[in-house]
Amino acid sequence: MASDTGPRTNQAGLPSANPTSSYWLREPNALLLGHRSTPDLPEEADIVIIGSGITGAFAARSLLQDYSCNKKVVMIEAREACGGATGRNGGHCQPLVYGTNPAVAAFELETFSFLERLVRDENIDCDWITLSGGVHAFMSTPLFQTAVAQVDSLTKTHPFLASQLEVILPTNPSKLARLRAPNCHGAIIQKTAASLWPYKLIAHILTSLLPNPNFNLQTNTPVLSLSPSPSSPGKHQILTPRGTLTTPKVLLATNGYTSHLLPSLSDLIVPVRGQISAIVPPSPVQTLTHSYLFAADPEKGQHAPRDDYLVQRPVLTPDSGGEVIYGGGRRLALRLGLGQYNDDELELKVAHYLRSNLSPPLDLGGKDEELPATYEWTGVMGYSRDSNAWVGEVPSHRGIWVCAGYTGHGMPSAALSARAVAAQMLGLPESGQGHARLPEEFKITEERINRARQGAKLEDCGGWEGAYFSGPADGE
Ligand SMILES: Cc1cc2nc3c(=O)[nH]c(=O)nc-3n(C[C@H](O)[C@H](O)[C@H](O)COP(=O)(O)OP(=O)(O)OC[C@H]3O[C@@H](n4cnc5c(N)ncnc54)[C@H](O)[C@@H]3O)c2cc1C
Repeated sequence: MASDTGPRTNQAGLPSANPTSSYWLREPNALLLGHRSTPDLPEEADIVIIGSGITGAFAARSLLQDYSCNKKVVMIEAREACGGATGRNGGHCQPLVYGTNPAVAAFELETFSFLERLVRDENIDCDWITLSGGVHAFMSTPLFQTAVAQVDSLTKTHPFLASQLEVILPTNPSKLARLRAPNCHGAIIQKTAASLWPYKLIAHILTSLLPNPNFNLQTNTPVLSLSPSPSSPGKHQILTPRGTLTTPKVLLATNGYTSHLLPSLSDLIVPVRGQISAIVPPSPVQTLTHSYLFAADPEKGQHAPRDDYLVQRPVLTPDSGGEVIYGGGRRLALRLGLGQYNDDELELKVAHYLRSNLSPPLDLGGKDEELPATYEWTGVMGYSRDSNAWVGEVPSHRGIWVCAGYTGHGMPSAALSARAVAAQMLGLPESGQGHARLPEEFKITEERINRARQGAKLEDCGGWEGAYFSGPADGE
């Protein structure tokens, strides 16, 4: 890998100090708020996890609970716990079944089931709702046809994955109307989808680890740099404003911010800013049984497609609850959000778009109008150069593991990716405990890095090369 000197194009900075207010962070967990397990930052640890989102939380849980390792694990977080993308996302958990590599699709389905079981078995209060499916509504015929070709190809090569999908043709307008997407040019229903309150899931995981004497959580502590320890050969020195921590093993669970600490990954995991609004639906509030994704070709004068998504919060009464958590509008964002790692500002153009472009295309039972929003916020995703997550020890950086780069996605793959990386850090077999193996596509190797670098740069393709925006999956 290239040496880590000098600023790089698209290199992330630190998480910004005053991020926009996310809907999901409005009920912080009292045990986690400002939490520091010890008043001072420890000087030594067996394993340091940087980042306390879904990746960091599940990695810590795997190390300390699933694998019962008897090691001192310190988690360092720049903000309050879960203050990054996991606390600022769209609340949508949906494995991507078509238009992706089938092994990745199977892994995401497995991760979804794992989360669903976990929420049920541990009775986690995180508003998990298993939906009747996710409606992918295509606002353009060519995009719909591309998606249908991908489904056809899966039917031949991977019938199980294809059985997760239902194609609704434009010749079935009554079904499209029942799905509340009457104006689209066709839809694909993906049967596995859920909505949840992501912060509350992570708060459960982290608070259940707090009593473990081997777990030390240090919030509000940005890691400024990561370098070889000058005094302990083979170890890493983690510099923070509160002191320095030395460790032989570090996990960067820092997603879009990873390149701040490992600049050589700047062209492989690129920070991309996304924006969300919590939209108040018209009264009486209709209950949506599905999640939605709206895809359309670029409009005249634009070069980026429409790629918007939503879930609904539980409806409480005919007049309350049921906010639509609506994300997207990235095609209107500055530089399509690419390289933007500051989530302390809103893009007003995008905010206006989200308020005024929900109904239609979604039939919410009211007039077609601009709708009010209770919260509007931004967050930073980690887009991957080859659209797959990067999971494993970084070549040429012995003792540094990464688990990041989920692109616009992440909830249906982070938990088991984190479990796999935890196993690697302990030298255990990755596939343990009956879980799907980490897809080869996620593993970090020199060969994959070189291959990815031969592909398009994210700033040239905008990050839309995957899923229904590209040709049929090759069925490998
Ligand atoms: C606007 C938006 C909408 C999204 N919608 C969805 C969706 O609906 N469904 C879905 O599946 N995915 C969605 N995603 C993607 C998903 O949220 C992410 O893939 C996932 O949350 C990544 O989790 P993580 O734990 O790896 O990263 P994060 O949750 O970002 O956690 C990384 C943590 O590391 C901390 N950190 C970073 N650098 C440092 C440092 N130097 N020192 C200390 N701490 C540091 C950060 O503060 C942060 O808390 C969305 C993301 C965004 C931003």
